[in-house]
Amino acid sequence: MNCFYHTDKPAIGICKHCQRGLCADCAAIIDDVLACQHRHEDAVHMQEQLTARNLFQSKRVSSAYTRNAIFYGLVGILFAWFGYIQYRFIGIQAIFFMLIGLFLLYAATANYFESRKHK
Ligand SMILES: [Zn+2]
Ligand SMILES: [Zn+2]
Repeated sequence: MNCFYHTDKPAIGICKHCQRGLCADCAAIIDDVLACQHRHEDAVHMQEQLTARNLFQSKRVSSAYTRNAIFYGLVGILFAWFGYIQYRFIGIQAIFFMLIGLFLLYAATANYFESRKHK
């Protein structure tokens, strides 16, 4: 493949924006990828910024889910444990606490799996 702008020169890479072959004179390196110099430098830069932001956001979403999973898990265990030891004293009402605990543990598991999806 030859350079799109200089058909006599061999291409060293492809512009990320227009997929055209570029020789050493035409290629500009933007954020570790190639772009047509003075033509698609800005376009590629914006494209890369967007990709980087998406990765960053998905990482943030993932850590939020992990945080939720830990929080629900701890509170869930607390409720289940509270219900368990109170069962002898308050009887049937303790089941209510255990159910809340189980529900929170379920929410924790759901959040945990959701956090893995975003990694
Ligand atoms: Zn280009
Ligand atoms: Zn060229």
